Amino acid sequence: MTVPGVLPRAVGAVLGSAVGDALGAPFEFGPEGAFSARFPRPGHGGEMCGGGGWEPGEATDDTQMAVLTAESLLDHGGLDLPDVFRRFRRWAAADPKDIGLQTEAVLTSGDPWDTAAALHFQVNLRAAGNGALMRAAPSAVYFARDGREPTIYAARRLSALTHGDAAAWEGTAALHALIEVALAGRDPLTAVPAILTALRPDHRQRYSVVLSPDWHPDQATEFNGAVWPCLGSAVWALRTTTSYEEAVRAAIDLGGDADTVAAVTGALAGAVYGAGSIPARWTEPLHVPLPGFDGRVLRSQDLAELAERLVVPAERPASGPDTLTTP
Ligand SMILES: [Mg+2]
Repeated sequence: MTVPGVLPRAVGAVLGSAVGDALGAPFEFGPEGAFSARFPRPGHGGEMCGGGGWEPGEATDDTQMAVLTAESLLDHGGLDLPDVFRRFRRWAAADPKDIGLQTEAVLTSGDPWDTAAALHFQVNLRAAGNGALMRAAPSAVYFARDGREPTIYAARRLSALTHGDAAAWEGTAALHALIEVALAGRDPLTAVPAILTALRPDHRQRYSVVLSPDWHPDQATEFNGAVWPCLGSAVWALRTTTSYEEAVRAAIDLGGDADTVAAVTGALAGAVYGAGSIPARWTEPLHVPLPGFDGRVLRSQDLAELAERLVVPAERPASGPDTLTTP
């Protein structure tokens, strides 16, 4: 296999996540194996089928929130948390087709950006959903060049906008770190032990279980709408397959929160295999409506351009893509 450069890997992460999301959406809350029952052989086409209220190729809240995050990072040249929260709120107020329960409760509470998620967690005591993990591909690309600690810090802060439980922050932190490794041209799977040591000690044990090489999604102790099995399933899908297409198929076949598990898997597999590994028959029908933002709809080319700007943002000191390529 030819090792892709940093730009194809960055585009692969962003586009790969969106494609996984759109491909998995019709199978959300479905049974195990539903995808391969309908599409038994890889590579045969027709998989971007729509259904369950989704058009063929239509991306869901996972990608919509990812795009909002990306555009805030680019417009502000970095992390502007009140701005990200404002964009999320504007989107939530426009009645998107789908929105996570926790995310909706936090964004419509009327509480300020820096306390809304914490207040929700205080009252509900459960906020370890995968709703921050699902939207992390663009921020993972953006902060990758800063290295492990800064990208983990950014992941925590962005997650905390909607999720008050530190479990959600640490899962997103782990995904940021895995993508940072992949964009540098290294194997994210071999980096898992080192990444675990960078997580908060009080959350490390649960992640070491779901990220261990012998963990299988059948061993999950929660529905995969929770952050731990969602991340664990994505890493499992990457570990047990050898291509973007196979990884995303395996993720959707797990059933449950299929769009989000596939979005996270697609981000990882896209970062590892590069944009060129994502089948064109999946990127062609892909589209991302942005409720609340003047009827805008992004296509694959728009996402690719967004990813390229994320990896080498013009307003940041230009060390150039060369410093990011595989040594
Ligand atoms: Mg979704």
